Amino acid sequence: MIVVMNSGCEQSHVDHVVELVQQMGLREHVIVGTDRTVVAAIGDKRNLDMSAVESAPMVDRVVPILAAYKVASKEVKQEPTVVRVGPGNAQIGGNKLAMIAGPCSVEDESRLIEVAHAVKEAGAIGLRGGAFKPRTNPYSFQGLGETGLKYLAKAREATGLSVVTELMSIEHVKLVAEYADVLQIGTRNMHNFNLLVAAGETGKPIMLKRGWSATLDEFLLAAEYIMNTGNKNVILCERGIRTHESYVRNTLPLAIIPAVKHKSHLPIVIDPSQGTGHAYMVPSMSLASIAAGADGLIIEVHTDPEHALTDGAQSITPETFAQFMTDAARVASAVGRST
Ligand code: PEP
Ligand code: MN
Repeated sequence: MIVVMNSGCEQSHVDHVVELVQQMGLREHVIVGTDRTVVAAIGDKRNLDMSAVESAPMVDRVVPILAAYKVASKEVKQEPTVVRVGPGNAQIGGNKLAMIAGPCSVEDESRLIEVAHAVKEAGAIGLRGGAFKPRTNPYSFQGLGETGLKYLAKAREATGLSVVTELMSIEHVKLVAEYADVLQIGTRNMHNFNLLVAAGETGKPIMLKRGWSATLDEFLLAAEYIMNTGNKNVILCERGIRTHESYVRNTLPLAIIPAVKHKSHLPIVIDPSQGTGHAYMVPSMSLASIAAGADGLIIEVHTDPEHALTDGAQSITPETFAQFMTDAARVASAVGRST
């Protein structure tokens, strides 16, 4: 249920509605918009006494939320969410596109710092890099763990970039949250609901990747798990889905961008690296993502892709990234955005 307050209502009116909602055993989410304040009441509908809320002072109307997800839904909040991240308070979700770049995995300190400087210079606001890697093959490189997190922190110190890194398991929540500015939940973990809740509870911004076989509704319900902890800083990430096609590693469905914008207020970034699997496809799919309304990109960049420990084939060089950023500025301005 959404309680829409009259414009010009006071805090005491909102507090009163919150109290009513709590008395009914429901949880409230107060969203202060530029025009109206709304109180979303989440929980068991059977406890709901709509007429009591409707007759509270300064309540305009009470409407049911139709979507299965509530807090993530546009029904609850019309204005796009802007998530602020990292040392520079960089925005993900505003008019300015948020570019996040870096290696698939953190490999060594000097290489990481070198790539961090390069992507920062080209205009990135975030540095990506996995310290804990979800690998299909147990004999493949699994990531440097805490050492990798330390390198990421050093790269942040050197460049001011925000660190985006994957959280793979509940046992590492505290450790990863200590070093990261944004916790990445990987495609394989989108359905790991306990992990979503634990990640949400850190209060850190969460980049939630869509499961490679999840529907859009399942994706938004996963975001809802995080947001139900009270953490509203969720960034959605499309990284491609599994189809019959083999010329790409995954099929990148850019139609999800307008679909997300239609259903949710959350920002969405695109990962064209996992989304295609081929470095030569990354710039064009990135430009297409911007044209389609993405709020940002997360791109794998490596100084020596041939020798990368993971995902070299889909990693672009810093030079290609810089060139892409020049092209990105032109496409962004054509669709009323900036880089
Ligand atoms: C990655 O970003 O390197 C990664 C493993 O992503 P995904 O979870 O989308 O496969
Ligand atoms: Mn990767």
